Amino acid sequence: MTALFCPKCGKNTDVFYENVCKHCFIKDRKLLECPAVLFSKICPVCGSVYKRGKWSAREDENETIIECVKESSKFDNQISNLDLTLSAKQLDYSRYRVHIDAKAKIKGAPVEIEQDTEVRISWETCDTCSRIAGGYFEGIVQVRAEKRIPTKEELENCRNIAESVAARSQEKGDRLAFIAKTEELGEGTDFYVGSIKLGKQICRAIIEVFGGKITESPKLVGQKNGEDLYRITYALRLPEFVRGDIISVDDKVIVVQNSGKHVSGIDLETGKRFIENFNDLMQVKKLCRSQDAVSAVLVADEGNTIQVMDPDTYESITIKRPEFLSAEPGNEIKIVKTTKGIFVVPDNM
Ligand SMILES: [Zn+2]
Ligand SMILES: [Zn+2]
Repeated sequence: MTALFCPKCGKNTDVFYENVCKHCFIKDRKLLECPAVLFSKICPVCGSVYKRGKWSAREDENETIIECVKESSKFDNQISNLDLTLSAKQLDYSRYRVHIDAKAKIKGAPVEIEQDTEVRISWETCDTCSRIAGGYFEGIVQVRAEKRIPTKEELENCRNIAESVAARSQEKGDRLAFIAKTEELGEGTDFYVGSIKLGKQICRAIIEVFGGKITESPKLVGQKNGEDLYRITYALRLPEFVRGDIISVDDKVIVVQNSGKHVSGIDLETGKRFIENFNDLMQVKKLCRSQDAVSAVLVADEGNTIQVMDPDTYESITIKRPEFLSAEPGNEIKIVKTTKGIFVVPDNM
């Protein structure tokens, strides 16, 4: 067998890459090139990252740094089987050192490179945070309730809904989907929103959960590039009734379990379930709340009717036996006295 030589360096070799030995072949090739110092722009307020010419949502700082190195690295265009390891180490508030370890093949010849690069964060306030700081908003969502003050629970829920709607839109890249300010007032909550679109989305999401109505009122606030600029106020009204309200609907008396687009509850006379589209209800009136119920003695159970002792007059009153009643005669039950008569209230209401 004849010994083979590299024509370039003259050394013995069995394997040739483009007619030279491996050493000569990879000597002039660079697996990757990466600047020794790189810069990454991050918003100190919200953590948004500036990349590929625009601001985008916050991500893990370590990942941002790694990605910055990856994007700034130029790889030899003939590599295959790349095995790239990047590890970032924070040096101080604004500096990271990233160790690059890359293994690959160029035309089949194994090559490896190890290198350190430094990434410096330049802290710069993003477009959204600048807007918020400047008091910018395009709409106000005013959450109120029909003929009552919204409950604390409802307002808390609305706030959670508004914030998660904004977060979801921001994740999808809508930089104007921010809530600039949330004002809690005696009669409800006002959300100042960065875009009209977000205002609509929040209204829709709240109504999806609670039901209710919106009225929009646009107000001209100026002009931008020759176009009229509007600010829209969304007056959102949560439905009149909440869980636990006892209402009369036509000739029925209902304890409300859920109120939204539909009102559902229990018919207190029969004990049957009740559900109706809110807008289809004609004669609706609130009588009292289930919390207003008082204790009374169940005197007798006659199957279709029961006798209850009126706690004020000590008279026995006969009423229909609701399906949900499980108490035995002699037991105490909860009743409400309304303008429509006396009704038993289920224990769980
Ligand atoms: Zn050689
Ligand atoms: Zn920001």
